[in-house]
Amino acid sequence: KPNYPKPDGKLTFDRLSSVFVSNTVHEENQPSHLKLTDPSIPVEVNLPKWDEPAQRYCPAGVYEIMENNDGSKRFQINAANCVHCKTCDIKDPSQNINWVTPEGGGGPNYPNM
Ligand code: SF4
Repeated sequence: KPNYPKPDGKLTFDRLSSVFVSNTVHEENQPSHLKLTDPSIPVEVNLPKWDEPAQRYCPAGVYEIMENNDGSKRFQINAANCVHCKTCDIKDPSQNINWVTPEGGGGPNYPNM
C-alpha cells in the first residue's frame, strides 16, 4: 500500500480542502451524474482485483468503499463533490462509470481562471 506523508496544510493539502477551494456546487437532490452500467462491479470485481482504484484516482474523493453493519461492503458515490475531471469515465478498469452532464449547470467554479 502507498505510504505517503500526511498533508501539512502549507505545501500539501488533503483532497476535501482542495474540493472546497474549487467552489464546487451541485443542486440538492439532483440525480447522480455519475452512472454505473452495472452497480455490482465495484464491489464484486474491482474491489477484489484492484482494491477498487476509484478510491484513489478520483481527485475529489467522490468514491468510497463503506462497510455495512453486517460486514458486507458497498460502493458509495459522493456525487456532489465531483470536480468534473472525467478521470473515472476513462480510468475505471471495468469501464463501468459513465460521467454525464449534471443538471442545473452545477460543478466547479474557478472565478480567477
Ligand atoms: S469526474 Fe473526476 S472528480 Fe468527478 S467523480 Fe470522476 S474522477 Fe472524481
